[in-house]
Amino acid sequence: MRAVRFVAVGRPAEIVDVPKPSPGPGEVLIRVAGAGVCHSDLHVLDHGIGIEGPFTLGHENAGWIEEIGQGVTGWREGQAVAVYGPWGCGSCHSCQTSAENYCERHASIPTYGGGLGSDGGMAEYMIVPSARLLVALGDLDPVTTAPLSDAALTPYHAIKTALPLLTPDASVLVLGVGGLGHMAVQILRALTPARLIAGDIDPGKLAHARSLGAAHIVDTAAATAREEIRDIVGERGVTVALDFVGVQATIDLCTRTVGRNSRVTVVGMGGGTVHYDAGRPPYGTQVTVPYWGSRSELMEVIALAQAGRIKATVETFGLEQANAVYQRLRDGKIEGRAVLVP
Ligand SMILES: [Zn+2]
Ligand SMILES: [Zn+2]
Repeated sequence: MRAVRFVAVGRPAEIVDVPKPSPGPGEVLIRVAGAGVCHSDLHVLDHGIGIEGPFTLGHENAGWIEEIGQGVTGWREGQAVAVYGPWGCGSCHSCQTSAENYCERHASIPTYGGGLGSDGGMAEYMIVPSARLLVALGDLDPVTTAPLSDAALTPYHAIKTALPLLTPDASVLVLGVGGLGHMAVQILRALTPARLIAGDIDPGKLAHARSLGAAHIVDTAAATAREEIRDIVGERGVTVALDFVGVQATIDLCTRTVGRNSRVTVVGMGGGTVHYDAGRPPYGTQVTVPYWGSRSELMEVIALAQAGRIKATVETFGLEQANAVYQRLRDGKIEGRAVLVP
């Protein structure tokens, strides 16, 4: 079968033939419907994640159960499923609560998940090491819902923990309206009455945010961006700032527009630093660095999609186009999420 492989740091992905895997005891073989193309893949290719290649990329995956390994019960072949992405030990306290994204034994596990150390979903088939990592999709199309397992789950987790602050008189700022950001806008619209401001440097992505329900859009490339946001939110400042870019300019924009007793959440891995100086960010500000989300939160995300409240904007490509798609992602030329379809 064809697969898009990480080979070594600094090398482009290789599209090669690998043997079709077969599931061992406890494992499940998935016929991949789609694999989302994520900025984290670029991080893997450019900087590595401390795990030697080669392995198949693709960590936001959905498909159909092709074959069930010995001892797996409760699932049937042909069932449409999302693959929960962060694979923990399955038995520590965090994993027992379904928050494998915060597995306490992650340092002793030689992988972060499929596509992140283990073989992922940019292939015709992938092995999922345990049925506990599957979430049923029901009638949802696995191609267009593949991005839900990261591009929607990650912002959902970040937003859910901030919900007590997102009251009708609060303001929430979303920076970066790419794969995660365009889902964040929809999740905020579905879950909170807070005033929603979206910022990006790309006019097309700002228009996209507007079409998805952002009340205000701000061109963050403009020198006046901070003043524009201040004018919208008034003296109280931004209540929750969600940074899906994470470069210095976006982190600084968050810390300089939030008010007292607010929250700055950095999700993007752009390499920026949160600086602290007395009173900036303002007193009472919580700074959070969430990672991905729990399996039960993925179930909630899928329920939102089933209810028609969120929908990934998806453009599909073949596996052979992987490197061209990565280049488009680097150039900021993907609206919503690119999905590779084997
Ligand atoms: Zn990702
Ligand atoms: Zn664990």
